[in-house]
Amino acid sequence: MRFVSTRGAAPAADLAQVLQAGLAPDGGLYLAEHIPVLEPDAFAGAHAPAEVGARLLVPYFAGSALESGLSMLCGEAFAQPIPLRALRGAGDHVLELFHGPSAAFKDIGARFLAAALARLRMPDDPLRTILVATSGDTGGAVAAAFHRRAGFRVLILYPQEGVAPRQARQLGAFGGNVQAYRVDGTFDDCQRMVKTALGDAVLRARVALGSANSISLGRLLPQAGYYAWAALAHWRATGRALSFVVPTGNLGNALAALIARRMGLPIARIVLACNANDTLPRYFAGGAYAAQPSRRTLANAMDVGAPSNFERLRALYADADALRADLAAFSVDDTAILDTLRAAPARHGCEPCPHTACALRVLETLRAAGDTRDWAVVATAHAAKFPEVVEPAFGHTVAVPAVLAALLEKPARSRPLAARDEALRRILLGAAAPS
Ligand SMILES: *Cc1c(COP(=O)(O)O)cnc(C)c1O
Repeated sequence: MRFVSTRGAAPAADLAQVLQAGLAPDGGLYLAEHIPVLEPDAFAGAHAPAEVGARLLVPYFAGSALESGLSMLCGEAFAQPIPLRALRGAGDHVLELFHGPSAAFKDIGARFLAAALARLRMPDDPLRTILVATSGDTGGAVAAAFHRRAGFRVLILYPQEGVAPRQARQLGAFGGNVQAYRVDGTFDDCQRMVKTALGDAVLRARVALGSANSISLGRLLPQAGYYAWAALAHWRATGRALSFVVPTGNLGNALAALIARRMGLPIARIVLACNANDTLPRYFAGGAYAAQPSRRTLANAMDVGAPSNFERLRALYADADALRADLAAFSVDDTAILDTLRAAPARHGCEPCPHTACALRVLETLRAAGDTRDWAVVATAHAAKFPEVVEPAFGHTVAVPAVLAALLEKPARSRPLAARDEALRRILLGAAAPS
């Protein structure tokens, strides 16, 4: 399989090149040249998520240097349990993607990408520095995925005032080849600093850099694996297609659902649940696409006003009408998030995180309008990652999952960093004292 840029001005590349590059050289996002459709028997005998994921990804790996490693990569990515649980309401389910090391769905894609890059590494390659800007879950997932992997180090940049205290502790607790920097600025500063470094040809000639952000196809492709697994398991058990409500920020997770459906899996509807950042709901309601500055909400990992994967979504459809016919998006404000969190334990039999609460709210709206399909709400993080929001709503404390608790017990260390491109550049060149 070859991969092409959404902007059409970069040469087609193979999978190994695409995973190593992240962004296409023309500034676009890589997509498979065509989305393959699998025969129904392609999954015969495959039951576990790692097996289903590996069958799904076969066409993308064909002819690549990674081809023989596909099963191993899926084994690593899908090492965590991925339960599809029934909720109280008839036909309601939750797909729990938060049982990995950082308790958010990003673990699966991040581990897949890290394992792939480690496998592509040559014995005498220089130490590669993975740069991540984060305001929450990305940093933890990428750090966990590369932690203790020989040949890599991770530099995490997070805004000093912009992440929750528990998140900051998590980012600083890895140690070893993971270094956290608290930037004296905003998330946008962090992102700009990383982008500037990655785009600096002089710097890159001296230091081997890499990125693992959500536009990497190496994070997107494996995510299609859990949709395939859940839809297939539901189909085998009931003979019915499953529909998904996906909490959405940059559209990475939702795009993976769409790819699984295109590939022939029994998925009926896909609906996006956004917070008060309503760029996508406005577009799907028929408006022009208009990126907006992001607004802060209780579901902060979805505080995105310009979804970076929109370019990919658009490229998958002939025109806006076709796209709007195939997907829908709804906005859920903070008041509705809190109402949903308060009611969820009794009403649905689950304790969602604020992002998952957006999806539950959308499901409630669909049910109220008479929808009788089988739905799965995608649970993107464990509620214990957001105690300040969920605990007052549930009226009790939420136990932290064991893996995360072990991490949080370790001493957290982070270093201060000025919000200037030059400050990061100095660190990368080793000019700043690595105290
Ligand atoms: C990243 C994240 C999202 C948004 O995912 P996208 O792929 O950016 O749409 C939703 N919920 C949680 C908990 C996240 O960490």
